[in-house]
Amino acid sequence: MSAPRVSARVSGIEESATIRIANLARKLRAEGKDVISLSLGEPDFDTPAHIKRAAWESLQQGETHYTQSAGIPELRNAIAKKLREENGLDVVPEQVIVTPGAKYAIFEVACTLLEEGDEVVLIGPAWVSYEACIRFSGARTTWVNTSLENGFVPEPEQIAEQVGSSTRLLILNSPCNPTGAVYPKDVLRAVADLACDHDFFVLSDEIYEKIIYGGEHVSIGAFEGMQERTITVNGFSKAYAMTGWRLGYAAAPEWIIRGMLKIQSHSVSHPTSFVQRAGVAALSGDQSEVEHMRAQFERRRDVLIEGLWRLGMECPKPEGAFYVFAHVGRWGTGDEVAERLLNEALVALTPGTAFGSAYRDYVRISYAASIEQLQEALKRMEAVL
Ligand code: PMP
Ligand code: GLU
Repeated sequence: MSAPRVSARVSGIEESATIRIANLARKLRAEGKDVISLSLGEPDFDTPAHIKRAAWESLQQGETHYTQSAGIPELRNAIAKKLREENGLDVVPEQVIVTPGAKYAIFEVACTLLEEGDEVVLIGPAWVSYEACIRFSGARTTWVNTSLENGFVPEPEQIAEQVGSSTRLLILNSPCNPTGAVYPKDVLRAVADLACDHDFFVLSDEIYEKIIYGGEHVSIGAFEGMQERTITVNGFSKAYAMTGWRLGYAAAPEWIIRGMLKIQSHSVSHPTSFVQRAGVAALSGDQSEVEHMRAQFERRRDVLIEGLWRLGMECPKPEGAFYVFAHVGRWGTGDEVAERLLNEALVALTPGTAFGSAYRDYVRISYAASIEQLQEALKRMEAVL
């Protein structure tokens, strides 16, 4: 029998840290431990009823067979319309691909655009799966690390320093997971200018665009000169509480979509048929629950941030998404603090190093949990720390 050997590509990446810790918290809960999980970025709300109904009706109508690889025309149309009307992007349905989750769209972009020798600029701290997708493609990551003092917003000069002749792609994520930072328009403008001057692409992951507090979401793909060099990625997981449905999408120049489509048609074929119908209902139906969830997240943010500040944790008030990225250096490294809190307080957090090696003294706290759970978690954390 041949030796158990996985490919170099696979051994070069780690399992998703956010998912690993969430599974650990689930396991402890199954063993009867009263763990409060503030580790996973997953809305705790139910998917709105009209969206579930659309999937059910689709099943009843027998839509249980293969669909077009790029997604059903009705959904590609609805996405293109949404991107034109809400995001100011000049998009036709042929420039849209529907994917099983935004994560798969990111993977497809990496495999379509990148190869050995290419460099990708990541703004740190960055969501766990970007670097894994880059590595998998064979390209290298160059980090631009933001700091707590700047509210985790990058300085355009910092980015300019990391851009060179090998730069092929820059990944933007505003509102940002794990910091909750929302990048101001002038920072996006500066990134767009760099992309045009140095001829690289921008993957703009806008999955938290609906979870924003006060500010306004800006899509970099709408800036002059950016249409032909932006891949806008989004999905239904966060805005519509649809994490388990696995539905996302990307909009990009048609030649990029065609490349992504090759990967999709040979791997997953397409997202689930009746789930795509639910996506049409989500985009074209009543949006009031999206706002209701956003308002609840805002209230939770306020409760959590007050409590963390009282505890002495350093963290800026997040302007979007549902995460706080907190400096915990006075108690130890992020790994140590997360381990202690899990064992002694039964509170699960994610260590900062999951989002970049520069963040060893940080933890990420997800507030996709009820106010009661957040208050209880704060009480337990206070007792331990
Ligand atoms: N981008 C970011 C920044 C995320 O936090 C997530 C959450 N998993 C995703 C993409 C992927 O979302 P999904 O695959 O559930 O659509
Ligand atoms: N995006 C979420 C998080 O950061 C879900 C888990 C994942 O897909 O990594 O926790």
